[in-house]
Amino acid sequence: MKVVFITGGVMSSLGKGVTSASLGMLLKSRGYRVTMMKLDPYLNVDPGTMNPYQHGEVFVTDNGSETDLDLGHYERFIDRALSGANSVTSGRVYSDLLECERRGDFNGGTVQVIPHVTGSIKDHIRKVAQSGDADITLVEIGGTVGDIESLPFVEAISQFRTEAGIGNTLSIHLTYIPFLNAAGEHKTKPTQHSVRQLCSYGIQPDILVCRCQTPINNEIKNKISYLCNIAPGCVIENCDVRTIYEVPLMLEQEGLCTQALKKLGLEDKPHDLTAWRDMVERIVAPKREVTVALVGKYVKLHDAYLSVSESLCHAGAFHDARVNIQWVESDEITHENIDSLLGSCDAILIPGGFGPRGTEGKILAVEYARTHQKPYFGICLGMQMAVIEYARNVLGMKGANSTEMEPSTPYPVIDLMQNQVGITHLGGTQRLGRYACQIAPDTLSSKAYEQTLVQERHRHRYEFNSEYADQLFSKDMRPAGINPDSGLVEIVEIQNHPWFVGVQFHPEFLSRPMRPHPLFRDFIGAALNVKYGEEA
Ligand code: GLN
Repeated sequence: MKVVFITGGVMSSLGKGVTSASLGMLLKSRGYRVTMMKLDPYLNVDPGTMNPYQHGEVFVTDNGSETDLDLGHYERFIDRALSGANSVTSGRVYSDLLECERRGDFNGGTVQVIPHVTGSIKDHIRKVAQSGDADITLVEIGGTVGDIESLPFVEAISQFRTEAGIGNTLSIHLTYIPFLNAAGEHKTKPTQHSVRQLCSYGIQPDILVCRCQTPINNEIKNKISYLCNIAPGCVIENCDVRTIYEVPLMLEQEGLCTQALKKLGLEDKPHDLTAWRDMVERIVAPKREVTVALVGKYVKLHDAYLSVSESLCHAGAFHDARVNIQWVESDEITHENIDSLLGSCDAILIPGGFGPRGTEGKILAVEYARTHQKPYFGICLGMQMAVIEYARNVLGMKGANSTEMEPSTPYPVIDLMQNQVGITHLGGTQRLGRYACQIAPDTLSSKAYEQTLVQERHRHRYEFNSEYADQLFSKDMRPAGINPDSGLVEIVEIQNHPWFVGVQFHPEFLSRPMRPHPLFRDFIGAALNVKYGEEA
């Protein structure tokens, strides 16, 4: 069992998730089986009920867990499906412990942070690390060392390291090296303090990864090395790069993976990053470009749609094209301004979402895509909006809506799923995770997937109302994907249009930089087709 712990210091938002995922990718490139975990100190049981503005996107795993968005980075970089066991919060730990306590499992004993909370954290790590399907487990701790709420996690790591024995664990600390213009030099003091703090909890880091905006010179690296007691060669520079997919290449050059393997007593095996490097090249220096309008209601925080924007980037790399995202606030769209907002984009995408705010603007955006021959990709709520727009404007069903937005709509073309009726408990109760979808022949979807049965991840409570199927499919809208068990309509398409697809599931969770999701790939292909007038 080899476990790598990654902590963060100085401040948040340094890219700990991407750094961790990059090391995972580098280890995997050497043939090691890698798995990854995220330990989050907040008290929510999982991010499923959190506002995207607070927490960014909720990443859904195959088994239907609602997890931290860093799991998305992990899956994209190590190209491996993870599960709920890979995302643990303080809320989860406490809620499980308190349930045991109420059941009487502690026989009247006092329940304490040490040993019970720390013990439970260690159990979660061991369960993943000893499951037998990974040689190396990477464990990232959310937050910054020194935060009150992350203390039990740091203490648990310290205990875990002692128990696992020398050489079986590795501590990597990510810090920030600011450049002070007035002094004309990089400053190491915040890093020194952060390492000292970590040491005070019993963890001497083995490797320091130093985030910086401009390269740090050897003098600074040496200074950090002797002041923080880090072996020379284990002070790794992590400078700003052009795309997150370039991070592994930079860290490889800095020797991160080689040093990590050495410290873990593992062999540094031959590896080939050529294909990854080519993919990065196509992202940073593409031959063409298209602009996709992403119409949502959390557009001020791009992390709220992280997997969608990454999927667009992957699809662009496939076509050697940059995908510029034009973020459009759905609340602000009106009949009067829609031309100026959407007129210049090459394609329109509406991602998932909840609640009525902004939906009328989204419906206007669908209408604009449909009537202006702009490739359209509707995801989850974006699919539901497409069905409503079609019902209202093509079939004349005035006031058609989803019962989520308008419970008394005369035409509930989108309605609460039967098995959702009566559910009041919010956490983990939607239709979540992987379900099968049967693809209809001769559709845009069948052309994209080249398969008749696919598996996709879901997160929703409402669905296409089959009672309206005959009416909705009486013209040029058609069902292109059906759940084989329930008969649920999972994909709708509109014919006589360059590319119009709405999916009830979330394809963005399955796209990988080296293997873009087929629907994203063809959506961008269609946008390029319209713009450049060639077979993309
Ligand atoms: N709010 C919609 C539903 O619950 C769509 C969900 C989503 O877009 N993820 O069905």
